[in-house]
Amino acid sequence: MNWVIELEKLSQERRMILEGIFEAQTVELPGVQCKVLRPIEVKMVVVMAKDGVVVGGYARTVLEHPCDRCLKPVQVKINGTIEALYKPINEAPKEKEEELQSLRNVLYYSSDKIDLSERIIEAIVIDAPMRVLCKPDCRGLCPHCGTDLNDDPKHVCEENRIDPRLNKLLLLRKINEEG
Ligand SMILES: [Zn+2]
Ligand SMILES: [Zn+2]
Repeated sequence: MNWVIELEKLSQERRMILEGIFEAQTVELPGVQCKVLRPIEVKMVVVMAKDGVVVGGYARTVLEHPCDRCLKPVQVKINGTIEALYKPINEAPKEKEEELQSLRNVLYYSSDKIDLSERIIEAIVIDAPMRVLCKPDCRGLCPHCGTDLNDDPKHVCEENRIDPRLNKLLLLRKINEEG
């Protein structure tokens, strides 16, 4: 499946529908690479409108994302919305307007083709939850030894216990400071 549209063809047909599977083994989310568990289903409607090329559609899949606390793999359902407006590069705004335009997801094309694959990835990334937990009350991992605290809720780490000698030292120092 090819996600590139030819503008000449689009201006003849006015409206094109792209539908199929977006081939990807993994998707890069901010800070984490996720395995694609279900083929990425994509549907896009592309219309040659008065103010540019309007793209709308969806990208659906299931990703494997590690739990933010314990790193256990979690299945995350994605139902991303694709929404973009493409204008020719000569209509690109001056610096000041730039920020406002990017908020509206206006993009600029400079050739006779537009590659829409980036919009698919973008829709998935935007729909991915900010926080992924295997369960709402996940206890996470012990910060010292990495023990999964869900399996061992009573875990007390060796490194966490204060050495009795150190304890005495701390006490001595406290007395000195107070005295
Ligand atoms: Zn977890
Ligand atoms: Zn530990």
